[in-house]
Amino acid sequence: MSKIGFIGLGIMGSPMAGHLAAAGHTVTGFDLSEPALAKLVESGGQRAANVAEAVAGAEVVITMLPQDEHVLAVTTDVIAAGGDGLLLIDMSTIRPETSVAVTESAARKGIRVLDAPVSGGEAGAKQASLSIMVGGSDADFAEALPLFEVLGKTIVHVGPTGAGQVVKAANQLVVGGIYALVSEAIVLLEAAGVDARAGLDVLAGGLAANRILDLKRESMIARNFQPGFRIDLHHKDMGIVLAAARQADVSLPMAALVAQLVAAARAMGHGSLDHSALLKVVETLSGR
Ligand code: NAD
Repeated sequence: MSKIGFIGLGIMGSPMAGHLAAAGHTVTGFDLSEPALAKLVESGGQRAANVAEAVAGAEVVITMLPQDEHVLAVTTDVIAAGGDGLLLIDMSTIRPETSVAVTESAARKGIRVLDAPVSGGEAGAKQASLSIMVGGSDADFAEALPLFEVLGKTIVHVGPTGAGQVVKAANQLVVGGIYALVSEAIVLLEAAGVDARAGLDVLAGGLAANRILDLKRESMIARNFQPGFRIDLHHKDMGIVLAAARQADVSLPMAALVAQLVAAARAMGHGSLDHSALLKVVETLSGR
């Protein structure tokens, strides 16, 4: 059993830290939010007063934070407080080059780093069925694997530092594209006077089948956009996708389109709604 410091106990981090505690690990967590800390204690963890306290005595530190700036700030404190041999696993979705920069500064103190972003959403975190895409060394991946197995079902070592974040960018591109297309399908069906529920039930059984249709068609038709995964975070992720495309010198026209639809959702004031609220943008474009 490991001593784990867990920083970032939000929609994803809270159930993940709870699973690790339930599996018998000693989990000491820190978050800026008081309710998040109280929830950790309820699920068998211990609360820390700051990052340094969560890192003290830990063999592994896991971070699950919103964006690059939070990861940079928190990992600076983790590196300052941590010692030789510590394994830092960042499971947030951030730019690949930020993962590389964190790994390089951690290495100067003998701290090893894995980038291990996840897919599967809040449901995947709660059900411990996440897909986890991991960048880093073979040895560090092997050491972290038993912890990943507590949190997820599909766990793949995809390459060196930063590779996990590139795979996550590809994931977010596909997820955003599917949300946009399911939204267009709903608008088309409703505008043509066809029952959207019946229509999407058929789609979910044919070649158009996908997990978003399975999990979200009911809530989208009901216009329930409670997050889940916020538009603001998907906006951040589409920025990562476009930057990665530029870095790799490739042209991804669909990525640009999805990024603009997500930007529109944000500009319309839907940033804190679930990313399925792309439907509101598609409706507005059709005057509905
Ligand atoms: P969230 O906003 O619900 O949680 C983030 C938590 O980090 C919050 O509780 C916040 O208080 C805490 N935090 C921020 N700055 C901090 C600091 N300096 N010190 C301590 N705590 C701090 O976000 P989330 O939905 O859990 O997402 C976390 C990461 O996982 C993001 O990078 C996101 O893109 C990614 N992700 C989210 C989902 C999803 O469905 N929500 C799915 C896959 C990946």
